[in-house]
Amino acid sequence: MADLNEYSRPNMKHSEIWRRFYIGSSTPDLPAFGKTPDPNHNPFIFDQQDLEQADTENSLGRISTCNSSLRNQVNISASCQSERSNNKKNLAAILYGPRDLRLEYRQMPTIKGHQVLLNVEVCGICGTDVRIYEDGRLGPFTLKDPMVIGHEASGTVMEVGKCVTNLKPGDKVAIEPQVPCRMCRMCKTGNYHMCPNLYFCAAPPNDGNLCQYFTHDADFCHKVPCHLDQEVATLMEPLAVAVHACKKGRITSGDDVLILGSGAIGLATMLAAKAYGASSVFVLDIDDYKLRKAIDLGADCVINTKNLDEEETVRKICQLVGHAPNKTIECCGLEAAIRIGILATKPCGTVVMVGLGADNQCLPVMNSVYKEINIIGSMRYANDYETAIDMVSRGKVDIKPIITHRFKLEDACDAFEFASKKEEQIKVLIHVNPDWIPDESAKC
Ligand SMILES: [Zn+2]
Ligand SMILES: [Zn+2]
Repeated sequence: MADLNEYSRPNMKHSEIWRRFYIGSSTPDLPAFGKTPDPNHNPFIFDQQDLEQADTENSLGRISTCNSSLRNQVNISASCQSERSNNKKNLAAILYGPRDLRLEYRQMPTIKGHQVLLNVEVCGICGTDVRIYEDGRLGPFTLKDPMVIGHEASGTVMEVGKCVTNLKPGDKVAIEPQVPCRMCRMCKTGNYHMCPNLYFCAAPPNDGNLCQYFTHDADFCHKVPCHLDQEVATLMEPLAVAVHACKKGRITSGDDVLILGSGAIGLATMLAAKAYGASSVFVLDIDDYKLRKAIDLGADCVINTKNLDEEETVRKICQLVGHAPNKTIECCGLEAAIRIGILATKPCGTVVMVGLGADNQCLPVMNSVYKEINIIGSMRYANDYETAIDMVSRGKVDIKPIITHRFKLEDACDAFEFASKKEEQIKVLIHVNPDWIPDESAKC
């Protein structure tokens, strides 16, 4: 494989590309602030009968699992397949503890008047899902009880509640994985993602949507045009994170934008920044595979910073841009990256912080004072799905190339183990629809 040192994008604004210093991979959004929502919101009911059946099957040697010593784990045996095709049971990927993901059936959820019943089609694996999978916790959220994992999903509407007017059966939707209270000050002022009573999928103890059937409030299911497929609909979640960050940073025509981190969120942010009219976008990471993807998707320049110290990195960024970038979007949350973001950004410029890292970090605060740098936090999204869908449907953003791997729901355990290795991958998707044919999708 050619070294990135030797690679030059044909129409690159700057020809010099080199490798150094660690920036790290993307760290997308974090499951919910605040307390647990109404327990009635949980669409799943534990089905003891299924577990007993699973135990019986286990004794017959028909169950394969991530950890064979654990009970109640069900892989898709022939008997399960028939259940599934009858649509009577709801196969779900349930996290019991660190690296203990099991496939189990749960009862079909029922909808309330303002909700829709969705046939989940595709669910992406996010960096935060991987963290919960690996550690059983994420920030203040600790897994105590089994939880359906997953929060980046798309689906087809099967049934609508009697109060629903925006959707009908058969509609293709991107599921915004949060539901606020709609009553508090944050909700009233449009910042519903900061609602203290926010429900967020797969933020313990809330169930997520890596399951066949899922109910969700209809106003948080965003209809996707027919010409976009379900994989693209799923990717509206990371793109919404990117859109939110670009809005926070007021990315516009003429901006030179530095993106720190070339994972799914970094790449989506790069695409969104270009759609907003950025003149040039520069991407830093330590991983050649990810940087190569950034070049493929249109980065004007990439820098592998693995072996470069902070001072050299800042100097090289300025050399490449021709001057300091005026906007930086930090997408990995590492102290080293945030430091570079502050140091490299032009006076009176903006640093948007998207990545999630250590709670306490040592940052060059005085540098940001002397230069009047605007440091802005960006958390998930609020009113951003519409923009993301519009960008993709009008061809302003081609998000699909960030997909690198696809799995079936039956292989969800393998998918999470794979995502956990973090090697040569950007976005891993799990196809929940049993009719999905791997080869056809991969051609898209
Ligand atoms: Zn996500
Ligand atoms: Zn609220």
